Amino acid sequence: MAEVDLHLHTTASDGRLSPTELVRLLAKRGLRMAAITDHDTTNGLDEAFEEAANHPGLTLIPGIELSADVPGNEVHMLGYHIDRQDEDLQEALKEFQAGRVDRGRDMVEKLGELGLPVSWERVQELAQGTVGRPHIAQAMVERGYIEHVAQAFDKYLGRNGLAYSERVKLTPEGAVRLITQAGGVAVLAHPIYTTDYIDMLPGLKAAGLVGMEVHYSTLSRDAIADLARVAKEHDLLPCGGSDYHAMDKPDEALPGQAGPPLEVAERLADLASRR
Ligand code: AMP
Ligand code: ZN
Ligand code: FE
Ligand code: FE
Repeated sequence: MAEVDLHLHTTASDGRLSPTELVRLLAKRGLRMAAITDHDTTNGLDEAFEEAANHPGLTLIPGIELSADVPGNEVHMLGYHIDRQDEDLQEALKEFQAGRVDRGRDMVEKLGELGLPVSWERVQELAQGTVGRPHIAQAMVERGYIEHVAQAFDKYLGRNGLAYSERVKLTPEGAVRLITQAGGVAVLAHPIYTTDYIDMLPGLKAAGLVGMEVHYSTLSRDAIADLARVAKEHDLLPCGGSDYHAMDKPDEALPGQAGPPLEVAERLADLASRR
């Protein structure tokens, strides 16, 4: 159990706990420092900070997880200590939200053509905020087409899935710059999900990257040791977290089941304060 968790989702994107519920869980699990990192939105942060005021033992970090793209590969970039009032950031997020809606509708249409109709209204209801593929998957589960969300990704919604549709995204360097310009520090999320991520590190560092995820819930001890070595070689802070979504997965890691030492989170804060 870690004292720090720097990767958490709420209903503001595709998590299933509200910001208030998540913060209560973080406090209950004894976390000392945590970052809420919803996909392409900061909308959950105000509510989360309001609730965090009731839990003095917990320090909350304003965060985000931006989706970026390289040909054939998805890259997620975490941002910490961002100024959520930043106009350029909010302007960009508005565009990403619109792109998610267009692409969501497109995938729903494709599912219909495949003989698996789901209602777009239902998807939006499930999403509440940022529309993501997990919400479409959830609507598919409700209709009884599949049993678990993951099955939708395997066959239909994953990058090579039958109903997959692209959306406009940032480049990874663009994501680093957007976070940095909003006063934050950028950290590469779950690098092992990105093929050839090591080749990307010099360019990302030049753009301002300060860390990469090393402590991640699904990784073995050996995999974590490998990532820690790469982080050290590239002078990147070894960050991480549970990537908790409160999904319908029995084996999902809970908040704090993965995370870096407190000292790493303190160094992130220190770097951000010099921005
Ligand atoms: P999107 O934001 O619409 O591109 O959807 C990507 C999100 O879906 C990821 O950030 C994960 O939270 C979730 N996801 C990706 N792959 C899977 C999977 N195989 N099973 C369940 N959730 C997934
Ligand atoms: Zn997610
Ligand atoms: Fe991610
Ligand atoms: Fe995530």
